[in-house]
Amino acid sequence: MHFALLSRSASLYSTRRLLEAAEERGHTARVIDTLRCYMNIASHKPTIHYKGEDLEHFDAVIPRIGASITFYGAAVVRQFEMMGVYTLNESVAITRSRDKLRSLQLLSRKGIGLPVTGFAHSPDDIPDLIRMVGGAPLVIKLLEGTQGIGVVLAETEKAAESVIQAFMGLKANIMVQEYIKEAGGADIRCFVIGDKVVAAMKRQAAPGEFRSNLHRGGQAELIKITPEERSTAIRAAKAMGLRVCGVDLLRSNHGAVVMEVNSSPGLEGIERATGKDVAGLIIDYIAKNAAPNKNRTQGRG
Ligand code: ADP
Repeated sequence: MHFALLSRSASLYSTRRLLEAAEERGHTARVIDTLRCYMNIASHKPTIHYKGEDLEHFDAVIPRIGASITFYGAAVVRQFEMMGVYTLNESVAITRSRDKLRSLQLLSRKGIGLPVTGFAHSPDDIPDLIRMVGGAPLVIKLLEGTQGIGVVLAETEKAAESVIQAFMGLKANIMVQEYIKEAGGADIRCFVIGDKVVAAMKRQAAPGEFRSNLHRGGQAELIKITPEERSTAIRAAKAMGLRVCGVDLLRSNHGAVVMEVNSSPGLEGIERATGKDVAGLIIDYIAKNAAPNKNRTQGRG
């Protein structure tokens, strides 16, 4: 098969590993810089231009779209879909996963366990909003945040009120969430491919920190997940319409709750922590499942 790896750089760990894994399995792959793709969207025959050339035919596209380029990246993936090319994750699912609130609403509709979460627009509603999620301590999250930046733990109601007011004053979109203290600063990343969790790791926050992101000094280690956690992760991936994703869970007193579903999950942390060839499993999955015109949306939506 001939793969297009949509990525900003061939030197990123995940991109490099996917290239290697494809080549090891006798496929060919080319790294395409997402932001250098351009297209004539009114043409009868959808095509993609790239640095002055007409892009060749690919059997499958592996989108690695960073949060900062979601809008343009999704348009490029959609164009591939219009050309009938199989994309590992479809553009609508990628866009959906980037909106934290929309994602939680979709997961909730499918009855998937979530931390109690609220959102509001008016500063007048802050006290009631805080009460709704069970009072302090609580977590306040910027909807646009990534890598733990914009996630704040407010220990008291006074602190929560001031932080929410400050964010609202800056016109930032936020949500307010029950603080899952019993998680002990740890979360679980389940790496889902198709309908399987192929690898799972526990990320433990640095001492004195509640955010377990590896970018915030968290440490990763292999973990055995329960059948309930496995099924929650798989159902979350399905609800989001993602074929490959990272589902982040917290172990709460009321079972596993989903915090987030990531549509371009990094491979470095999970491969190092578990010793598994996750890149190879992704390539094997595509080789088995990709076919022309097999996307669910074919660029619609
Ligand atoms: P980001 O998308 O920026 O990584 P997350 O929502 O994943 O933001 O939060 C970052 C980290 O903060 C999580 O990995 C987790 O360790 C911690 N965290 C987030 N929400 C909660 C919560 N409701 N209760 C306890 N810890 C949380």
